[in-house]
Amino acid sequence: MKCDLLIRGGDVIDPSQSLRGTFDVVVNDGRIVRVTQTTDDVEAKCTLDARGLLVVPGLIDLHVHVYPHSPWGLHPDSLAAANGVTTFLDTGTAGSFSFDEFRRETIDRARTRVFALVNLSRTGLLTGNLGELLDRRYADVEGVKRVIRQHPDVAIGVKIRASDFIIGTGEDGWANLRDAIRAARESETWLMVHIGYCPMPTPELIRELSPGDCVTHCFRGGSTPITDADGRIFDEVFEARERGVQFDVGHGMGSFCWEIAASALEQGFEPTTISTDLHAWCINGPVYDMPTTMSKFLHLGMSLERVVELTTLRPAEILKQSDELGTLREGTIADITLLEPCQGRFRLTDSHGQHRTAETLLRAAATIRGGELLPGGGSLAGRHLADD
Ligand SMILES: [Zn+2]
Repeated sequence: MKCDLLIRGGDVIDPSQSLRGTFDVVVNDGRIVRVTQTTDDVEAKCTLDARGLLVVPGLIDLHVHVYPHSPWGLHPDSLAAANGVTTFLDTGTAGSFSFDEFRRETIDRARTRVFALVNLSRTGLLTGNLGELLDRRYADVEGVKRVIRQHPDVAIGVKIRASDFIIGTGEDGWANLRDAIRAARESETWLMVHIGYCPMPTPELIRELSPGDCVTHCFRGGSTPITDADGRIFDEVFEARERGVQFDVGHGMGSFCWEIAASALEQGFEPTTISTDLHAWCINGPVYDMPTTMSKFLHLGMSLERVVELTTLRPAEILKQSDELGTLREGTIADITLLEPCQGRFRLTDSHGQHRTAETLLRAAATIRGGELLPGGGSLAGRHLADD
């Protein structure tokens, strides 16, 4: 048979099918045709030699800022190949004032797939870090609902950054949080809440959330983490997870603490998804990219299969896209990531400047989106098998 792309001899990991082993992946017309051990009968236009590499479903980063008109924003296509990411969720960089433009100029033009949460604040993050909800007039429940109605294929939920310097203290803080919850309920979507410096204690905030809602920055240190003063995960956090609240990493500039993450994993608390919170102020460290963030969880003792699951299958489920994305099942969209597991001694840094030395660092080797090899990232992109 003839095909567009053959990925040969890689270590395939696909948690959606509990699949692990050395396989070839056959891609044609933007779709996965076969994952198989024998491709002698296959004639490919392009063959990638994946020996020594991991072949996983295209990574999905559930927390990024890819609206370039915001001072936080990066362009999604400039990140995709270096991150091995084929699908991004922009988490509230745009609000009701800017969403139409975000869609027209960025989402629709990007080669990377972008979904988005709509910020409760009309301005989104267009003003940098001045507190997008300090003035209650900016809380725009009706505007969020309108955006989600008009862009149901990309605007899939609501975002609020629930810090006191953003949503205010006391009654104002609560009023903003309740508006965000109402926007999610009335638009029949879900809410992502960023925690840290919250005006209310974390357990009180988490009690307000419903199944499907998501707490991001779940392993942050400092003010209002998911642990009490003795480092114990709050009972309310376990209870919330039980009833279906999601917990996302969202590493970012200030929201990943080695100590909290290690202690949470020890206490049997895993995040639902591993994400970067990549934006203009953490792209050059400490976050860098998705594979580096994944490597931090490998270093904490999480299995490779699990790390891949929390960056493919789980975020695909949250996006309600697991029929097509986050999987290498035959017939699905050919979003595929090749990762190189580099061995050595690597210094990995959290958001508090604390270093740990890891022996494995994952790097994106090649990124394939809808059957197309994305240019510009991965030292092994385009490596071809010699015929002899
Ligand atoms: Zn963020």
